Amino acid sequence: MSKPGDDDDDTPGTRGELTPQPVRAVGAVASAVPVAVIGAGPAGLMAAETLAAAGQEVHVFDAMPSVGRKFLLAGIGGLNLTHSETLSVFQQRYGGRSAALAPLLNDFGPQALREWAAGLGVETFVGSTGRVFPHDMKAAPLLRAWLHRLRGQGVVFHMRHRWTGWAAEGGLMLSTPLGQVTLQARATVLALGGASWPRLGSDAAWWPWLEARGVALAPLRPSNCGFDVGWSEHFSSRFAGHPLKNVALQLGAWQQAGEAVVTATGVEGSLVYAASAALRDNIHEHGSATFRLDLLPGRDLAWVQRELAHPRGPRSLSTHLKTRLKLDGVKAGLLWEVVPRTAQADPAQLAAFIKALPITVTAPRPIAEAISSAGGVGFDAMDSGFMLSRLPGVFCAGEMLDWEAPTGGYLLTACMATGRAAGQGAAAWLDNSKG
Ligand SMILES: Cc1cc2nc3c(=O)[nH]c(=O)nc-3n(C[C@H](O)[C@H](O)[C@H](O)COP(=O)(O)OP(=O)(O)OC[C@H]3O[C@@H](n4cnc5c(N)ncnc54)[C@H](O)[C@@H]3O)c2cc1C
Repeated sequence: MSKPGDDDDDTPGTRGELTPQPVRAVGAVASAVPVAVIGAGPAGLMAAETLAAAGQEVHVFDAMPSVGRKFLLAGIGGLNLTHSETLSVFQQRYGGRSAALAPLLNDFGPQALREWAAGLGVETFVGSTGRVFPHDMKAAPLLRAWLHRLRGQGVVFHMRHRWTGWAAEGGLMLSTPLGQVTLQARATVLALGGASWPRLGSDAAWWPWLEARGVALAPLRPSNCGFDVGWSEHFSSRFAGHPLKNVALQLGAWQQAGEAVVTATGVEGSLVYAASAALRDNIHEHGSATFRLDLLPGRDLAWVQRELAHPRGPRSLSTHLKTRLKLDGVKAGLLWEVVPRTAQADPAQLAAFIKALPITVTAPRPIAEAISSAGGVGFDAMDSGFMLSRLPGVFCAGEMLDWEAPTGGYLLTACMATGRAAGQGAAAWLDNSKG
């Protein structure tokens, strides 16, 4: 299947579900616009909507040929927009940034996001895990309706316009199909994304330009990512791509049941992503991190011991595991990969490994492969309206800010909430600086 970013084509219909309504460049850019939103992902589009609703003339610029490529990619996984848990629990998912994001989520949280989607004609439902999805589990219809509304609000889109920093004499430098342009904007919202999946547009090229202006930045790190383990060739060639269904991951006091996936180099999948921030930070501190996998979370240790202790007669241990414990395939392969031979022969030790198999990860996968990134523009670098203290009139939103959260709809919700807050901040600043 083709993915957004695979080509340079913004012709409607050529990429099926992934192709949004076309948004074409409008030709030469005016040298001055009232408001420039740079980055047409969910954060930038929400900032544009908020500014336009406040009566501002908004111009959106994006380096890519079409808008919202990562948003469309999220649609391939069903577009988990938000989560249905209580707001107070929801707000805690942002860890160290919970307090900073709480007021924004009070203002535009999971329920408001669902109502906003409904306002675009996209009804949502709560899945069995509490995650919220559009009924059709697609991103393209929502994006199409959103762009239609934005254009109706007068928002002007300039695609294939790459921001390349600030000119020495001020102004936004843009590389456009018609050449270099320096653009004056009374207010600018930067919503440039993090550093994951750079071929979809968010390549973090902005980092040195903000750093040079003295903006406090936290290093960008992979978040919701896979990890390297260093499997044997035998194990990786047999089991790469195999899902580990119905397992529980335990890291310190933290435990969660779910599904992981064995990769050629290690592990990934939703359960691993949920532990990824802690695993990444442990690796950074200690060089490696070890979590434990419970291969039979529905059974207690005593049951596993009893089943293993059954006389197996002439049957092999593999057959014994399969018939008595229903452990085979990748789960059995993992046992043979990790459990020392001496322990394999001892039912008590083997039972303990089945309930808490140690997996040592040595490195997170590269940020380009991650679902999202941590780090970015520090909350201390901005005022309460998301304006950079070092750069009056410049606002920031979305994944380029220094927060992270697990998968579960928390990413899109915070991108939209910060986009809205930055849009409100920019609108208020423009009102106050009038005349
Ligand atoms: C495979 C995958 C699945 C995901 N699924 C989900 C999900 O189901 N639920 C969820 O909550 N989150 C999901 N996410 C995460 C979510 O998509 C992102 O967090 C979100 O898109 C970030 O929004 P953003 O607007 O901050 O940045 P982005 O969506 O990355 O948009 C940034 C925009 O800025 C543009 N840009 C960057 N630099 C420049 C420049 N110099 N000049 C001009 N334009 C520039 C880019 O082209 C891009 O269009 C998923 C991510 C991935 C990779």
